[in-house]
Amino acid sequence: MTASSSLSSPTAGTVLHGVPVVAGVQYAPVIRPGRLPEVDADAGADLAEGDRDAEGQRFTAAAAAVAERLRDRAAHATGAASEVLAATATLATDRGWLGAAEKRIKDGAPAVRAVNGAIDQFVEMFTKLGGLMAERVTDLRDIRDRVVAELNGLPEPGVPLPDEPSVLCAEDLAPADTAGLDPSLVVALATTLGGPTSHTAIIARQLGIPCIVAVPGLDDIPAGTMVLVDGTRGTITVSPDEATARNEVAEARRAADAAADWSGPGTTADGHAVAVLANVQDGAAARAARETPAEGVGLFRTELCFLNTDTEPTVDEQASIYAEVLEAFSGNKVVVRTLDAGSDKPLKFAGHPDEANPALGVRGIRIAANNPALLDHQLEAIAVAAERTGNPPWVMAPMIATADEAKNFADKARAHGLTPGVMIEVPAAALLADRILQHVDFLSIGTNDLAQYTMAADRMSADLATLTDPWQPAVLALVAMTVKAGAAVGKPVGVCGEAAADPLLACVLTGFGVTSLSAAAAAVQGVGAKLSQVTLQQCRDAADAVVGTSSAAEARAAALSVLG
Ligand code: PEP
Ligand code: MG
Repeated sequence: MTASSSLSSPTAGTVLHGVPVVAGVQYAPVIRPGRLPEVDADAGADLAEGDRDAEGQRFTAAAAAVAERLRDRAAHATGAASEVLAATATLATDRGWLGAAEKRIKDGAPAVRAVNGAIDQFVEMFTKLGGLMAERVTDLRDIRDRVVAELNGLPEPGVPLPDEPSVLCAEDLAPADTAGLDPSLVVALATTLGGPTSHTAIIARQLGIPCIVAVPGLDDIPAGTMVLVDGTRGTITVSPDEATARNEVAEARRAADAAADWSGPGTTADGHAVAVLANVQDGAAARAARETPAEGVGLFRTELCFLNTDTEPTVDEQASIYAEVLEAFSGNKVVVRTLDAGSDKPLKFAGHPDEANPALGVRGIRIAANNPALLDHQLEAIAVAAERTGNPPWVMAPMIATADEAKNFADKARAHGLTPGVMIEVPAAALLADRILQHVDFLSIGTNDLAQYTMAADRMSADLATLTDPWQPAVLALVAMTVKAGAAVGKPVGVCGEAAADPLLACVLTGFGVTSLSAAAAAVQGVGAKLSQVTLQQCRDAADAVVGTSSAAEARAAALSVLG
């Protein structure tokens, strides 16, 4: 799907459809990030000698105002968001680029041209330095845009700070846009681009606010328009009837309040147990997840700990990181996934080859073929962490496509005293789940990649977001097949893709027979609460109902009619 761009704004009552990623209903006015000012690097004639001092002062004041605003936002934000904003504020006052811009102004360049030239110079330098410095390039460009906007008297680019609860609509959102979003003021997110696993979706899940991505026509809704966002159905109603809209919000809030009372463990209303677990990426996330009723960790994405690491961390360094997660869930189940490097998550030390199609390339377990020591060291580190914490985790390999890969991984994991499993995210693995299960003790279905590879649709593509929807019946058929293979031999089969974060779909998965559901911490309560309101028979009926459908929309509707 792409954004349709009609010339007029949609009429009242128009319902736009996108891909729902975080449940919840909100009714509020639309706000939009400010547009980046157009910067013409060569614009403006050289300044007369006599005007240069004044232009220098204008620049200094603009840069100072930008830094001050960033500092102020950092002071009002918390956690990682505050750190990101404080770091950007510091960079805004960095003497290096400020001095370079001042020199250009002294030499006659107007301030906008000077800012652009100085930042370009530093972007080039940072890029050459590589590593952490190269990662600051986005921040430098962000500062440039803010200072240029200030110099031109334009509103600051990025997300405006609303003075009332608002729905943030954007083409897509960058990390700097989303750092510091206040969920009491930005109450829902909708984007034209992005898929269910995009950055926007992940942030929305962390904030716990309704989110819909890949919404055609979204760009045509003017800022200030009241919209009703339904993150469960994936709909945005433009200027709805106010009383109806407020009713729907109140209804959704009642459901959310009911969820807030849910304290685990995961069972259906009639007592069928399904472990509700959390997906985490480091010790901090695990400690945060521990505050929810999550019964353990169903997916520890270890590669996310090392996205900024140039060289392979030592076994001891790795063990310390893994131990933090094991400690946070001491006495509980933790499933550690070995490095899923490659594709959209390359690691500098993994030695990725240059590939035309990285998503179909040397990714996940496949890196171990050319670099077996990387996997050996990681398994050793996990075993050390297990020993230190007294909490032996399960380990699983990503991107398994053959029974041989599963066997090789299982042999290695067992040699380290660990309990081996694999992820089912390639259709080949789902089709041969019975043979893979001859080698491993459990399976975990990664529905994000399973949808991508089943539907031959890039999970990052907004145009293809309806194809990568985990409700696609073809994807659900492979899930059902995998779960059946596990049940036949009495081995656990969980789901750790985003499908498990959708309360309705979680019930369908339960109907298929999954033994665990692992979702972002913010989704745990909604999933557990929904499960506690339905019987196992309802879940099974919903599972039966979806397998006969021909589209994701039909599957969703079929499940809704059974589960309410
Ligand atoms: C998945 O593919 O569903 C999964 C859980 O792995 P990731 O999203 O990290 O690729
Ligand atoms: Mg995956």
